[in-house]
Amino acid sequence: MLTPRQLFLRHQAQTSDFPLLLEIERAEGVYMYAPDGRRYLDLIAGIGVSNVGHRHRRVVQAIKDQTDKFLHLMVYGELVSAPPALLAEALHQTLPQQLDTVYFTNSGAEAVEGALKLAKRHTGRTELVSCHRAYHGSTQGALSVTGSEGFKRSYRPLLPDVRHIEPHYLPDLALITERTAAVIIETVAGEAGVRVPPPGYLPALRQRCTEVGALLILDEIQCGFGRTGTFWAFDQFGIEPDILLCAKGMGGGMPIGAFISTQEIMAGFKTNPILGHCTTFGGHPVSCAASLATLHAIQEENLLAGVADKAARFRAQLQHPAIREVRGCGLLMAVEFESFDVLKPIIDRALFHEGILTDWFLFCDNSLRIAPPLIITNDQIDEACAALLRAIEFVVG
Ligand code: PLP
Repeated sequence: MLTPRQLFLRHQAQTSDFPLLLEIERAEGVYMYAPDGRRYLDLIAGIGVSNVGHRHRRVVQAIKDQTDKFLHLMVYGELVSAPPALLAEALHQTLPQQLDTVYFTNSGAEAVEGALKLAKRHTGRTELVSCHRAYHGSTQGALSVTGSEGFKRSYRPLLPDVRHIEPHYLPDLALITERTAAVIIETVAGEAGVRVPPPGYLPALRQRCTEVGALLILDEIQCGFGRTGTFWAFDQFGIEPDILLCAKGMGGGMPIGAFISTQEIMAGFKTNPILGHCTTFGGHPVSCAASLATLHAIQEENLLAGVADKAARFRAQLQHPAIREVRGCGLLMAVEFESFDVLKPIIDRALFHEGILTDWFLFCDNSLRIAPPLIITNDQIDEACAALLRAIEFVVG
């Protein structure tokens, strides 16, 4: 009988030659547990997923309640059921009035795909503008607007008519023109190593899009549902998108995503052709029930209120000569070291000797990712920081 680790290596497709290979048997709150009982503090929340913690009581209950009623019924958009309808309405309550129409997907990349199609359909234009070092997903459309040639080279040809601009660089806004269907940008750029837009940039981008009739798509797949300290990150920047994307943290651990826009824009999918965007599982009732419970947990347990103080607590303790900078927006943080060669042994030491799970960023490999469940307590933050500092000290001396 092969062990799960052996089966994983033998039968599950691998995406690198150096997976972490840590086996987890159960998870609760901010902790994950190995079969030998060893406990790991999850400082990255499954890459921005477990914002309300692992197995949040309300989320688990909502899943159980829904599985007692029904699972899948029918492909997207035909039958009416309460979970997606209630979730769509609850999302609208968190948003500017005009963003009142939700299309549910199974993942972030699918939300990106739907939004790109919608923008082309609505504007009748083909050009898509996105940022260098942006990550929008791994499917062909989402990969096309991802800002890394290294990730794309082996998969070309991808979507034509994609133009990349330098993020947060005002002169490049002139490259957005009457040819542009949409600009897609992460409100806070995650995989670039947590890059927060400087004051004025997003309003200027919003204005330029409006001037030339391009739609503004905000990708909040990583920073949505409270991670930055406000329910939506764009709440902090004084702008509103034409299309908003979310996934990851919105499901409380279940797979779900969405792109959200106005009735008028979204109506494009109804005609010429009908069924302009289809999905079998998008808006799965169990995922929607979990998502609604996640949203209620964030609101009713007041989880946003503590985010800024918790981030400050990390910052106050993460001080070491080897740390060059700590960037962040709420509990989406990056701790920068000199190089990947310094950082990687720190990550390994933290994991295997201190029981702290962290990571680096796809397009910023000298920075340590800190994005814990928002429910992390002050004691757990202190425990994590002390362990990280021990790991740093062990590696750099
Ligand atoms: N957009 C952003 C900003 C992301 O961080 C990610 C995933 O990391 C995606 C899109 C793609 O989401 P998914 O992995 O659910 O397809």
